[in-house]
Amino acid sequence: MKNIGFIGLGNMGFFMSKNLSLSGFNVNGFDLNENVFQKLKDYNINKIASIDEISSKNDIIITMLPNGRSVEEVWTSILKNIKPNTLIVDCSTIDIATSKKMHLMASNINILSLDAPVSGGTIGAENGSLTFMVGGDLEAFNRMLPLFNIMGSKSILCGEAGSGQATKICNNLLLATTMVGLGETIKLANSNKLDMNKFYEVISTSTGSCWALNNYCPIEAIGPITPADNDFKPGFSSQLMLKDLSLAIDAAENDNLKLKLGEIVFQKYKNMIDHNNGSLDFSAIINQLD
Ligand code: NAD
Repeated sequence: MKNIGFIGLGNMGFFMSKNLSLSGFNVNGFDLNENVFQKLKDYNINKIASIDEISSKNDIIITMLPNGRSVEEVWTSILKNIKPNTLIVDCSTIDIATSKKMHLMASNINILSLDAPVSGGTIGAENGSLTFMVGGDLEAFNRMLPLFNIMGSKSILCGEAGSGQATKICNNLLLATTMVGLGETIKLANSNKLDMNKFYEVISTSTGSCWALNNYCPIEAIGPITPADNDFKPGFSSQLMLKDLSLAIDAAENDNLKLKLGEIVFQKYKNMIDHNNGSLDFSAIINQLD
């Protein structure tokens, strides 16, 4: 199990494939954007000219792509030519329906597959400390585990096909909602002229504590170093957060659920992006609240 195909060598895939290569795997990479190979040339990633070549030569194929449309396009091509016993794993964040459809396409030709979106951002990808939220069966999960352990520090089999995507979407819905709530709370603290160091010390150890405050505080020079200390350079961009919120709202609609709070949070991120093109970190929402 030495040959790994990796499709999508962008901000995340670059580091993930690099870590696999540094651990001794033979990584065969494919990306529509030629420029990514410039950065990868020092890391022994083989540049592969076509998806067909990736499909037929690897033990495990990983995709790390922008959205469900690109994953469907790439998986459809891969599965046409895939060799028996290849495991195919999608680490992108995409809609649950497409993810399930891809699993079904694979299982119809007896190919094992996983959805395994990640949390941890580009820093986690670089450090090999991502969390993988995985959907699929145990046999596929166990086969992928050594690679998850190189690219990440935690991987959890959440359930059947699509469960990884569903878990990831739920996580980011909660994270975005918490960040908006935290932003409002900080505004109230400021209007009461509270000392922000004391505020952080108390709330981060009280019932109001949450990951957004304790680890990703959106106030400069308070708590650990975060994007707020770096002019809100991401981090995790507000554009990607808006994408995940829209996946959550779509998933809820498919299940006849209404995410009333989620829709308000979505609208706040949409307004933010309409004003500053989405390149700021998602925690910059604090500066966009009315
Ligand atoms: P990116 O845009 O930097 O990289 C995607 C890469 O896929 C690009 O290099 C692009 O050229 C390539 N690509 C697109 N369509 C292709 C196709 N049809 N065939 C081959 N290559 C193709 O995106 P990213 O930031 O690396 O994110 C990848 C995925 O990870 C997304 O689904 C994103 O939501 C998710 N994610 C990103 C982060 C983050 O912090 N960037 C964190 C968690 C999850």
